[in-house]
Amino acid sequence: MVRENVWGPAARVRGMGTSVFTEMTELARSTGAVNLGQGVPELDGPAPLLREVADAVLAGGNQYPPAHGFPALREAVAAHQRRRYGLDYTPQGEVLVTTGATEALAAALLALCDPGDEVIAFDPCYDAYPAGARLAGAHLVPVPLAEDTTGRATGFVLDADALRSAVTPRTRVLLLNTPHNPTGKVFTADELAAVAEVCREHDLTVVTDEVYEHLVYDGGEHRTIAALPGMRERTLTISSAGKTFNVTGWKVGWVCGPADLVAAVGSAKQFLTYASGTPYQEALARALGGVEAWAAELRTTLRRNRDVLSEGLARAGLRPYRAEAGYFVQADIRAWGHADGVRFCRELPLRAGVVAIPTSAFQLRPDAPSYLVRFSFCKREKSVAEAVEKLVSAV
Ligand SMILES: *Cc1c(COP(=O)(O)O)cnc(C)c1O
Repeated sequence: MVRENVWGPAARVRGMGTSVFTEMTELARSTGAVNLGQGVPELDGPAPLLREVADAVLAGGNQYPPAHGFPALREAVAAHQRRRYGLDYTPQGEVLVTTGATEALAAALLALCDPGDEVIAFDPCYDAYPAGARLAGAHLVPVPLAEDTTGRATGFVLDADALRSAVTPRTRVLLLNTPHNPTGKVFTADELAAVAEVCREHDLTVVTDEVYEHLVYDGGEHRTIAALPGMRERTLTISSAGKTFNVTGWKVGWVCGPADLVAAVGSAKQFLTYASGTPYQEALARALGGVEAWAAELRTTLRRNRDVLSEGLARAGLRPYRAEAGYFVQADIRAWGHADGVRFCRELPLRAGVVAIPTSAFQLRPDAPSYLVRFSFCKREKSVAEAVEKLVSAV
């Protein structure tokens, strides 16, 4: 067969195009609207951590770090998992430092999936999951989270039957995300036990994305599935400094798991970036030991923002969902006469001077609800208050 001599993108990236995030960020810029779209913190990281990075740069920490990450950071990550979750990982071989959680996710999917394999993820999900599966030639199978109306505000819960019926002989990986983006859901102990049971029964490998592990509000608790019986040996746990320390531009993440799985991820990772972030790794190795004090402070700020935003959305008639963790609140836009989140978000900057992201950017099923919109509150208090004022007066 003669290949047509016209350049075109390869199938694995065709149609990925520019995302709705780019479009909404551009709309925020061109209209001057308050940007509650992308989850980029307006607040800075802890001052001592920033100074340590500056010092590390000036002290000459500017060349390649070890491929698996600085030993001190791998030790700090292992100590963190032991202290918080009672899980023991050997810093040498069971912890791998990556270029953000994003690279850890991509490298894990490339390392675990053959073309044609299936990856299960809960829908809605972070947009890097379907993209990562596709780069690996795998097929992402979405399992809807169910709406739960038993609380004061609607939330999302696991539908264990839907999960069970999504498993096929080709399923290799279950991609879990708790606390969850874009819903703000935290998987409960019972839900994790149900997920773990399915994974053990069908011999699935779990990749769990826990980048919001420190940002659970109202005294709630983040639990990791790797700590459940029979799960450590089949689970890769991913986290990152970005969300925890308000330093999303640094792109330092890590993955913990059994040595054979981590080695496979390392094989892919070494040819994606090899290694990165020398001064950041050096500084984070010291900061991670004291993360609890910093995170408590950050949670106080974010919880206050969440409350102001949720109450404001309710006053504006945009029914907010429960946000137990993370950076985001889901809102139901139907009371504004809209059923389509994409159109709503395109009009919102002009109608109300606020930018949000349609939840459809995270949905994979054609029958997913189209009336959900995601507002982010990882912003200055002033920005959240201003957005609320604008939304309320636009009704
Ligand atoms: C922000 C985010 C990431 C990306 O983390 P980086 O460390 O910046 O690569 C991964 N997963 C989820 C759910 C996120 O919200």
